[in-house]
Amino acid sequence: MNDNWKKKFSTAACKTRPSPVRELLKVIKQPGMISFAGGMPAPEVFPIEQFAEGAEKLVSDGATMLQYGTTEGYDPLRNFLNQWTAPRLGRELSLDEILITTGSQQVLDLFAWVMIDPGDVVIVEDPSYMAALTTFYNHGAQFASVPVDGEGMDVSKLPALIESLLKEGKKPKFIYTIVNFQNPAGSTMTLERRRELAEIADRYDLAIFEDDPYGYVRFDGEHLPSIFSFDKAGNTVYAGSFSKILSPGVRLGWVSGSKSIIRQMAIFKQSTDLCSSSISQVLTYEYCRKGYLDAHLPNIIKNYRMKRDAMEESFRKHLAPQGITWVKPEGGFFYWLNTGGIDSDELARKALEKKVAILPGASFCLNPEAGIHAARVNYTYSQPDVIEEGVTRLAQAIQEMKLAAR
Ligand code: PMP
Repeated sequence: MNDNWKKKFSTAACKTRPSPVRELLKVIKQPGMISFAGGMPAPEVFPIEQFAEGAEKLVSDGATMLQYGTTEGYDPLRNFLNQWTAPRLGRELSLDEILITTGSQQVLDLFAWVMIDPGDVVIVEDPSYMAALTTFYNHGAQFASVPVDGEGMDVSKLPALIESLLKEGKKPKFIYTIVNFQNPAGSTMTLERRRELAEIADRYDLAIFEDDPYGYVRFDGEHLPSIFSFDKAGNTVYAGSFSKILSPGVRLGWVSGSKSIIRQMAIFKQSTDLCSSSISQVLTYEYCRKGYLDAHLPNIIKNYRMKRDAMEESFRKHLAPQGITWVKPEGGFFYWLNTGGIDSDELARKALEKKVAILPGASFCLNPEAGIHAARVNYTYSQPDVIEEGVTRLAQAIQEMKLAAR
C-alpha cells in the first residue's frame, strides 16, 4: 500500500524528531540487558497498598471519580498542593494560582502554547532535559544556551547573552531551568545563583520556567528555596510532578504561578485533554490527605541514596582509573559522566553490545562538542549488585575502545 500520509503532514510534523530515550526503551527490554538509560523510579518503592486504599472512594464517591473533572483540576488536590509547596514557594498560593496537569510534561507544552511564537528565542541550560527542548522546538522556538556546571546554570554568563540577543533584536521569551538535581547534569543551582537569576530576569523583564520534578528527592544537604520564592514580580512559573515522589503512572503534575498565566494555560488545556484523569486525581489526593506522601518520601530517599552510593563506589572502582570524571549528585536520578577523550556515542553502542544501556550526551546538548564527551547514567532503577555489574561492563567497553584506538 502507498503511504499517502507523509505528504499530508504539517510542517511541524515533518520537523519533529522521536525521543532517543523512548526509542531506546524498546531495546532495553531485551533479556539480560542492564538499563541505566531511562529515568524510571524503582518499582519496589511504589506504595502500592497505601495507594490502593483510596480505591474505597470508588464506592463512596464513584460519581466524582468516573466523571469528567474541571480543567483546572480537583480542588482538594489543588488546595493540598498549595499548602504542601508553600515552604518551597515562599507563600501559600490561592486556587487560581495552580493548575493540575497530565504530568509535568504537559506543563511544558501548555507553557509553550502560551509563550512561543515560531522564531522566538528561549534561553535554556546546556545540557538540558531533552523532552523540554523537543517540546519548545515543536512550537518553533530557537535556543540560546547557558552552560551548566557543578553549581547549576552558570548565571554569570546570562547578562552578556541577553545583551547580545537584544542587540540582534531578539528579545528572549523566557529562561528554562531545572534547579534541583538537573536532568541530565545531576547538579543543583546554588542559593546565590537562584537569587541572581531571579534578579536578572526581573531586570530584563524575562519570564522563568522553573522545572522541579526532582526537588523533593534530596539525599544530602538542605532543601533550597525555589527561584519562585525570590521572584517578587510574579514572572516565574514553578512546575512540580508526582512522577518521582509517588508514581509516573498517575500522570499528574502541576504548575504554580500568577493568575493570568495559569488561566491562559488552562484555556489551552481545555482543547488538549479537557481535564486530567479524575480517577488519578482523587486517588492521589486520598493518598496525600492521609499523610502518606510525607511518610513515604524518606523511604524513597533512603532507597535512592543507597543506590547512588553503590554507583559512586562502582564508578570509583571501575571508571576513575579509566579517566572518567563526574559530580556526585545530592539527589535526583542521574549521574552525568565526563568521558574525557572517549566518544560517548560510540561508547553507548559498545556498551549495548555488552548489554548495558547508557544515554550518550549529544541529544541533551545544544553544543554538540560537549555532548560527544558526556553520558547520562541512571541509578534509581537498578539494584546495587546490578549497578556493580553494569558499571563493570561499562568499564570493559571503555577498555576495549582504548585498546582498539591504539
Ligand atoms: N521535567 C523534567 C526535568 C523531567 O526529567 C521530566 C521527566 N523525566 C519531566 C519534566 C516530565 O515528567 P512527568 O511528565 O512524568 O511529570
